[in-house]
Amino acid sequence: MDSERHDAYQLVFQADVGRLKPFTVREDDDSVCPFCHRGMLPPILREDGDILLVPNKYPILQNTDPFVLIETAECESELSLYSEDHLVRVFQMAFTVWREMMADKRYRSVLFLKNHGPLSGGSLRHPHMQLIGLYDIDYHEGLRRDSFYGPVIHSAPGAELNISDRPRIGFTEFNAILTDEKGFRAFCLLIQQAVGFVLRRYHSGQIGSYNLFFYAMDGATYCKIMPRYATTPVFMGYAIPQVTDDLDAIVREMKVYCHY
Ligand SMILES: [Zn+2]
Repeated sequence: MDSERHDAYQLVFQADVGRLKPFTVREDDDSVCPFCHRGMLPPILREDGDILLVPNKYPILQNTDPFVLIETAECESELSLYSEDHLVRVFQMAFTVWREMMADKRYRSVLFLKNHGPLSGGSLRHPHMQLIGLYDIDYHEGLRRDSFYGPVIHSAPGAELNISDRPRIGFTEFNAILTDEKGFRAFCLLIQQAVGFVLRRYHSGQIGSYNLFFYAMDGATYCKIMPRYATTPVFMGYAIPQVTDDLDAIVREMKVYCHY
């Protein structure tokens, strides 16, 4: 029974570790922010100014190696507010670590994601990203390639931003795609602009939560930028994705907003 359970395509949540985690993401959370206090951090593995890589102190998933990349010393900052230089340095460290982990044969695959806001599933407000080496699971098995494509909003040499016309869940999913390293800076900026659009323009700035999910596939790198709100019951119950019928209007609006 046990071995059957562990062969399944699922991760095991360690409830006793989960109970110890601090929370600062909601207004009424009262934990002290551990990322604001270096003395509370585990040993720092990598450092570039105030950008830090540490092991995750609360490894809530069995058979994984989780790391946290603290993006800035400023607790109230947010990725869409960074200077171009700081943005690129954050992503440079994240990509270096992610690629090193992916080259490590102990992992079947490596998750690289970011949570922001109370509906993102994250627990800490302080801007950070997560890199999680998975010993047992290859995340590619759960992916549909067509969910990463749709009308193009902006393209630059080696990088593009589009909106899914066959989203993974729905309704609105933006995808930044890096096909050549020379597009790395553009790729970072497109992600930043999509996040700014989600937080300040989309739905009149009512969306306060988003996720970034990164994927390495077929020689390219994909980043899914997902505004977060209550997931549709039709997806929760039946796994049927939904697409919005005003994609073209969103593309037109974003073309104006994405101005770099
Ligand atoms: Zn903080």
